[in-house]
Amino acid sequence: MKALQLVANGQPGRFELREIPEPRASAEEVVVRVHACGLNHLDLWLESAGLPIQIPLPRTPGGEVAGEVLSAGGDVKDWKVGDRVAVQSNFFCGECEFCRRGDESICIKGELLGVSCDGGFAGQVVVPASALVRLPEELDFNTSAALTLAGSTAMHMLTNRSQVNPGDWVLVIGGTSGVGSAAIQIAKQLRARVISTGSTQAKRNLAKQLGAEFVVDSTDVNWPADVRKLTNKRGVDVVVEHVGGDVLTQCFDCLARGGTIVTCGATAGRELKLNLWPIFVKQQRLIGSYGRTRADLQATLDWAASGKLKPVIDSIFPLAEAPAAFTKLRSRSVLGKVLILPN
Ligand SMILES: [Zn+2]
Repeated sequence: MKALQLVANGQPGRFELREIPEPRASAEEVVVRVHACGLNHLDLWLESAGLPIQIPLPRTPGGEVAGEVLSAGGDVKDWKVGDRVAVQSNFFCGECEFCRRGDESICIKGELLGVSCDGGFAGQVVVPASALVRLPEELDFNTSAALTLAGSTAMHMLTNRSQVNPGDWVLVIGGTSGVGSAAIQIAKQLRARVISTGSTQAKRNLAKQLGAEFVVDSTDVNWPADVRKLTNKRGVDVVVEHVGGDVLTQCFDCLARGGTIVTCGATAGRELKLNLWPIFVKQQRLIGSYGRTRADLQATLDWAASGKLKPVIDSIFPLAEAPAAFTKLRSRSVLGKVLILPN
């Protein structure tokens, strides 16, 4: 089968499209034929060696997989050849303290598809059967791949890690990213009033089309003041933040008393200087959100099947042109998701 392998780290990294042996499933694994795989910032970190752990090369990236079961190991009971599936890319053990209480995204033996093992930028991928989620009949592979990681991350942030009530103000940072575009729609479905941010007119227009009531210009240094003004100086109840660095610090300027910032990604910076005074005086929360659970992923796909959630797809690349997709995502000019079709 064909696989896109990262053979040297860099910006850009060096990729090779190689012919490699097809994977085989062990007793509790399945082999999935990959029909579509979304590209994520995680793949860019793998490419540039930007992760806190060193990943041995070559490695096939790609964690946002939709496809069909090609073969299953001897102990796999729930899946058969031809089943249409999405893959929960946070692999988990199912046995540790955190898995047992339902927090599989923080499993102590957690692994990441496309990072700690070969991922979906290949004709086939082998994954634990426990990581599979069934695709609703109405859902095509591209829609699933565009929501499996990014959309379910937003679902985890808004329905698992934080709580949104009807009438709440929700601020979604970067409303046209994979996470942001899903977060706007999910917050709207939860009957929140949504404000978003965008760095270009095209991005701001799209955020409005997705359901944001107001969109502020994130290139204007005073954007947090604009958010306060829109909420009559009160501030927002929940911020969906996936950028990190100074942007996260500025989110506190947008936050109401008792409000919550839920953060993931930290793509623009992992360190920040934080003023603790407003956090305790205003009883605010800063909450981390990592990955998703299968329930979050299933909910995301079900919402998509019923039309409540639509992915924004920027562009679709064949496997051979995947390095150009990495360059495009890194340029920050994409609107929504970039997909790779390996077959
Ligand atoms: Zn576990």
